[in-house]
Amino acid sequence: MNKIEHIGIAVKDIAAAGKLYEALLNTPVYKVEEVASERVKTAFLQSGPNKIELVEAMSPESPVAKFIEKKGEGIHHIAFDVEDIEAEMQRLKAEGFLLLNDKPKPGADNKLVCFIHPKSTNGVLIELCQERR
Ligand code: ZN
Repeated sequence: MNKIEHIGIAVKDIAAAGKLYEALLNTPVYKVEEVASERVKTAFLQSGPNKIELVEAMSPESPVAKFIEKKGEGIHHIAFDVEDIEAEMQRLKAEGFLLLNDKPKPGADNKLVCFIHPKSTNGVLIELCQERR
């Protein structure tokens, strides 16, 4: 696995949170995108080499809505950049990690993604993302 690609933060109101993080990081939201597969709306900010993804649920059935219901707003996942997501998924499956999807799926910001269940990673939802080529 490569560097941390971004940190995902679950928020209730992405417009308000976007403004707040723009003020915090002193940089504008550069992209707002809906991800149908996850039923979320996302907003991205770049701070130096680091990227923050704000995530708001678009439906009460969205995993993000359930997360906020249980834990409140806050850090939702850590995403790692990978070269070859299929190979990485196979490797992690063989290591006994619980993957939340069988195949890579389209994520925000032109990525293919796969999530690893927090049950198998000490309570942290991990996202693998590979740049779509
Ligand atoms: Zn993410």
